[in-house]
Amino acid sequence: MIRSITQQKPQEELDQLLNGLSRVFIVGCGTCVTLTCTGGRTEVDAMQRLLAARGKLITGSIVLPVACDNMTGEALQASRLMIGQAEAILVMTCAFGVQTVARQIKKIVIPALDTLFIGKETGPGQYDEVCTQCGSCIIGETGGICPVTSCHKGLVNGPCGGTNNGKCEIDQGKDCAWTMIYNRLKELNKLDAMRRLQRPRNHQGEPMPGKFRIKEAASLSPSATV
Ligand code: SF4
Ligand code: SF4
Repeated sequence: MIRSITQQKPQEELDQLLNGLSRVFIVGCGTCVTLTCTGGRTEVDAMQRLLAARGKLITGSIVLPVACDNMTGEALQASRLMIGQAEAILVMTCAFGVQTVARQIKKIVIPALDTLFIGKETGPGQYDEVCTQCGSCIIGETGGICPVTSCHKGLVNGPCGGTNNGKCEIDQGKDCAWTMIYNRLKELNKLDAMRRLQRPRNHQGEPMPGKFRIKEAASLSPSATV
């Protein structure tokens, strides 16, 4: 299953972010961060104890079912009195959840986690990045294995010279992405795809934030004239 992968910020950074704020309300989330053990009920309770031991007054906490959901505003309503007593909201969700909460509450919102990547669970407690959302997908020609994400150098036209017995020269504990691609294409009898040249990638800065519009959506708008 694909998840938003997070890790708790270093305590020093959290202390700095919370410096001068004495009353805090804590928000967790019941989906990705619960599964990665970074912002579920257990972690929210542990954070509550930790901050109380550091002299903070915790006005309350909630673990939202899905923090990045459209229902977040309504779900937070149930805690509005406790939120009202707090100076700041500490949010233990991915950055998307933090931004969703921030849009709903006129308080300082502090992220307790760093959002690392979109990842797939590959074993108990293990998550591997599967796609960096590069915007120009080539895995149709690489046997379904992504070299942009899986190769340490992000090479898209075959391996570097360092691959050694199927392992990556940068990390001996990791399979070389291009050896995996070669083996997969061989298995599929599609080795000719290795000879196809991928065009140079556009590494110029793109306008931020990224935007995508479905053209037909304009005609579905209730205000659109027919
Ligand atoms: S090439 Fe890799 S990083 Fe780019 S969109 Fe495809 S899977 Fe994602
Ligand atoms: S050894 Fe393989 S995975 Fe590692 S950087 Fe070179 S091509 Fe990429």
